Amino acid sequence: MKFGTKAIHAGVEPDPATGAVMTPIYQTSTYAQEAPGVHKGYEYARTQNPTRTALEANVAALENGAHGICFSSGMAAMDAVMRLLNPGDEIIATNDLYGGSYRLMVRVYQKFGIKAHFVDMTNPAEVRKAINKNTRLFWIETPTNPMLNVVDIRQMTELAAGQNILVCVDNTFASPYLQTPLDLGADIVVHSATKYLGGHSDTVLGAVVVKDDELANQLHFLQNAAGAVPGPHDCFLVLRGIKTLHLRVERACKNAKKIARFLQGHPKVSKVYYPGFKDHPHHETAKAQMRAFGAMVSFDLQKDTFEDAKRVLSNTRLFILAESLGGVESLIGHPASMTHGSIPREERLKVGLTDSLIRLSVGVEDVADLIEDLEQAMVNL
Ligand SMILES: *Cc1c(COP(=O)(O)O)cnc(C)c1O
Repeated sequence: MKFGTKAIHAGVEPDPATGAVMTPIYQTSTYAQEAPGVHKGYEYARTQNPTRTALEANVAALENGAHGICFSSGMAAMDAVMRLLNPGDEIIATNDLYGGSYRLMVRVYQKFGIKAHFVDMTNPAEVRKAINKNTRLFWIETPTNPMLNVVDIRQMTELAAGQNILVCVDNTFASPYLQTPLDLGADIVVHSATKYLGGHSDTVLGAVVVKDDELANQLHFLQNAAGAVPGPHDCFLVLRGIKTLHLRVERACKNAKKIARFLQGHPKVSKVYYPGFKDHPHHETAKAQMRAFGAMVSFDLQKDTFEDAKRVLSNTRLFILAESLGGVESLIGHPASMTHGSIPREERLKVGLTDSLIRLSVGVEDVADLIEDLEQAMVNL
């Protein structure tokens, strides 16, 4: 089955009780049993819920995996993966990581004896150098936020092979429509479904997808034991969002390409970060592992000051100043003062995260209006 068909049909059957075409929201905490232990496969809603089951099967199909396990947020999904580790185990992670992922590794799991090393995963030599006998997990984010570096997933899975290292890819930025890491040898895919999968900025949810049955058993055990499960209404919203995932992402990618070109030609812009440009350092990797180049674009202003960046951010009318990404509406953000505000200035400058860096999550509006909006927001710089 091709992607667009899977997005709409995988895991979804007309409701057996009524024939309802859309998966009902099974808003229940428990299920009637005919006799003790005699039931229809559903006992208690932390353990199983039919709306969640449909979403889990759907997400598994989109990622070409065998098992989907959903959680109450992207961070809860990541937390379940972290609980697969034992004290003494070590992680090698992408150095320009989502802030919440960095926080979970360093401020929550370090005290349980799990150590994370943050390295430039676009450089295999650095990764090789960081591997030791305790390494049990590679945590890959690609494309990265907000610098839009692209890590070669297959190269990383080859480095990990035969060493008892799990390779996990946070696929939030790309979405399964653009990139399917399990096909490139990864063991685990994690999503903040809050972003592209849900796609409408109206819910928070997370997902893990794997191929391996034993790994799935462990994750299902953790899902039920720790209990960070999503509610049925949130599962319904994500399931509905996914039905248009391919249409939304395709359109957003086209818009982003036009906006990246517009910015590149703009006199007030000094640099545009977009993996679709031929001179992007990881363009070939992006071309090989992604279907298109994504809908995230970052750029620097000629005058590299907070003040100029803030002027642009306060002047846009369509681009909404907000954290998050992946919704139908376009968002604009200032990493230095928003998502990456806790990183010391010298540290962020080292990775190119300047005072004026602006990040766009391009939505599915008419691109002419989006370009006009950016144009007018930069007029008075
Ligand atoms: C948003 C995000 C997360 C966290 O997901 P939540 O649903 O907000 O908990 C993790 N990774 C990336 C790349 C994200 O953008």
